[in-house]
Amino acid sequence: MESKCIYCGKDHSLSESDIIPDALTNARILNRNVCGIEHNNRFSDMFESKVIDALAFITNELDIKSSKGKKYASYDAVITVEGTDYNLKLHGDNEIFNGRVIKSSDNTHLISSYDKTVKIAKDESKVHPLDINAIEIEKKIKINNEIFFDSAMHRMLSKIAFEWYCSKNNISGYYNEFKDIVDFITTGNGTNPVSIIQEEEIYKMIDQQVNLGSHTLLAFEKGDGEIDVVISLFGLLIYRVVVTKNKPSICNNNFLYVELRTDSLRKELVHHSIEEAQQKFVEMLAPEKFMKAGVVNGVSIMVPKVMEPVSNVDLYPLLFNLTKYFISVGKDAIGPNAKVNALFLNQLKNITQSSTLQKKSIKRFVNETFYEGHEKIRLNTQSSNKKATVLFYSIYLIGMSEEERLDDKILQEILNEGLSCSANAEVVVDDEMEKNLKSIMMADEGYSDVLEKGAAKVINWQN
Ligand SMILES: [Zn+2]
Repeated sequence: MESKCIYCGKDHSLSESDIIPDALTNARILNRNVCGIEHNNRFSDMFESKVIDALAFITNELDIKSSKGKKYASYDAVITVEGTDYNLKLHGDNEIFNGRVIKSSDNTHLISSYDKTVKIAKDESKVHPLDINAIEIEKKIKINNEIFFDSAMHRMLSKIAFEWYCSKNNISGYYNEFKDIVDFITTGNGTNPVSIIQEEEIYKMIDQQVNLGSHTLLAFEKGDGEIDVVISLFGLLIYRVVVTKNKPSICNNNFLYVELRTDSLRKELVHHSIEEAQQKFVEMLAPEKFMKAGVVNGVSIMVPKVMEPVSNVDLYPLLFNLTKYFISVGKDAIGPNAKVNALFLNQLKNITQSSTLQKKSIKRFVNETFYEGHEKIRLNTQSSNKKATVLFYSIYLIGMSEEERLDDKILQEILNEGLSCSANAEVVVDDEMEKNLKSIMMADEGYSDVLEKGAAKVINWQN
């Protein structure tokens, strides 16, 4: 079939559009029927880059970065050292003191390596040594939660919902049924199709089923031909986007689901309708169906029919319940309110206090912390960084392990034994656990060397 832009119908200069901007996910999904200049590149300037910049702290926390860029996105932070504030840009948690010059907010203090500082001060007596392993460092990050209610966010969510629904229905060309959402995405004018789910129970249900930091998309049809797409963005907030009030008759797939995980894995379901999905689900649960394969010595041989893969079978009941709720309850919020803010803060706390221990996050941590020429690691009992503590402890376990070479299976065993959790699991760290892990390591006189040994194994771990 001929390809045409879903926004304007143009049949040339089409491009691959990242349905979710590349910088916001490690699991890319594409729509190839979007023209390059007018409707792919321009969206980036019109609204996507604003959202990407504002979410840099979140993508850092989740180890998500653009496949095009080398570095993680930077974000503004304020650190307080001995009562003085320093403003700086961070790419990650673990690279505050990496030899660069940090100037205090009031321009009266500088922090850098000792040699560099003496050079700048031209007088050693003016330089005051800091033991970065013993000082208390307070780090403050301003999270701009306004972005979650900003028109740029609403346009981006509308674009995600529209392009995803179209890609799963192989839509090519412009359809008048999508006029409202196309107008809103391309101009920001017209009725805003986005609202916010504010029922706490829904957040809990989705959290239980999906991985930390995943994007989750669910499309369904309301009785009257309206298509809604519900988007859980990093699990932070859940939005509903009305894609059309009246779907084009060529759209056959109207019950859709995908989970896009931070480790780039995905789970996907495509069905014509919720009824068809329910039918499939019942069939999956039915006792194995056998068929006659032949008669051998008078005995009928029965073999099981080829079964459809049932790996996602556990998902269906949740999706049926969610859809039922989304179809019948219309009590969404259209902007921030006390309920929505409380939900957002709670979800944000989950993300910042949980570590997903996967190869990618462990490798990143080692590269940023055990870079060439770094000083021996001494843990700081004065400052708290829950994620870093769990990662240090994982490196410590790797260092203690007798295994010289790492692979996914060995990592799994090491974490299982030492932290009673599996790789890719979420580890939620509270104050007590942080204290415990630190004291286990610090009770070992040689822990700095063990950490170096563990880090070396991670650095040598090839794909
Ligand atoms: Zn176009």
